[in-house]
Amino acid sequence: MFLKNLFQRRNKRPLRALQVEVTSRCTRSCMVCPRSLLKIRWREGDLEEALWNALEPDLFLAEYVHLQGWGEPLLHPALPGWARAARKAGCKVGLTTNGEGLRDALDWLKEGDVDLITVSVGGNEPIHRDLRDGIDLGQVLEAAGEVARVARRRSLKTKVQLSYLLTRPGASSISAVVEMAAVSGLDAFFVIHLDCRFSRSLMELSAFSESGLCEGIAAHLGKARKTAERMGIVYRGPSLNAEEVLTCALDPLRFAFLSWDGRIGPCVNLLLPIEGPIPRWSEAGETLIEPVCYGRLGEVRLSEVLSSESRRRFTAPFRERLNAEHSFLSALEPGAGARALRKLDEADAVRTAELASNSFPDACEACPKKLGW
Ligand code: SF4
Repeated sequence: MFLKNLFQRRNKRPLRALQVEVTSRCTRSCMVCPRSLLKIRWREGDLEEALWNALEPDLFLAEYVHLQGWGEPLLHPALPGWARAARKAGCKVGLTTNGEGLRDALDWLKEGDVDLITVSVGGNEPIHRDLRDGIDLGQVLEAAGEVARVARRRSLKTKVQLSYLLTRPGASSISAVVEMAAVSGLDAFFVIHLDCRFSRSLMELSAFSESGLCEGIAAHLGKARKTAERMGIVYRGPSLNAEEVLTCALDPLRFAFLSWDGRIGPCVNLLLPIEGPIPRWSEAGETLIEPVCYGRLGEVRLSEVLSSESRRRFTAPFRERLNAEHSFLSALEPGAGARALRKLDEADAVRTAELASNSFPDACEACPKKLGW
């Protein structure tokens, strides 16, 4: 109870986000999804009520709960109740969907228990159909727009945004889809890289390589930004170059992922619903990654997992990297005199050495998020 009281205020909670995979099933078999690429090994399943019940008392540990992993969350019949329970625990609630079930979900979404609905798309009509196993972009946008309109009419906090998966074939149509999103009345549009490269073909679809953004992509992104400004829709673009980051965007120090079968780990990329190692492709070829599981819900509580030795070990380099940056910043002196410059050089040398001796864990090898993609 003491812990619970301590974390009543959402911004003081240990996890910035908890991602909960409510199902690994889906309505489609998209070519950009590991569920199709690894289908022989894929384990389909839903998070069971008993596991949710084991999680619910610890929801107060997270500021934000994202109810989706590798599957389509709107397929899970318990989703409305779970969204409400997470809301009651003081969490912000979000989900990502392929949009097909939005119209049917409107009945419960209009209760306002989901703060952020992200609809994932990959191109204009024909490209989206190709990449997304025949899904009709027009119908998806119509349904998403309807949810956004209902939310505004009812003065709900719910926001509906489009997440555009950037690929080489889809890059030229971003601007057109920004326009469609704005006309449909969506709240925001953002572009993400295809950073889960489970096969050579996915690697070749992504719009970046070791040497940076592929040719012509920056121009398409620039055009999309201008379209968003003209249409008055909030826009966020992806990273334009590779640079080793202190901690990846998911930040395992403040993030955890729960898979449908109860495994808890650092991120969705390290716990796929498959047996055995996870393939990851880069220009250097294939790397096989061992999944990272801190513990299993049901056997241990989320609160215990967060302070477990396995999590501490995995997150240690991230902590050290952030500490190195912090020490660097606090060693800086104002001014540009000789003394200040010498201090800057010394602090930079210490930081470089610290970062080199605290590189990302082995499981993050070849993960594009390490380089900020
Ligand atoms: S770098 Fe990649 S694999 Fe490692 S924790 Fe971040 S997202 Fe997961």
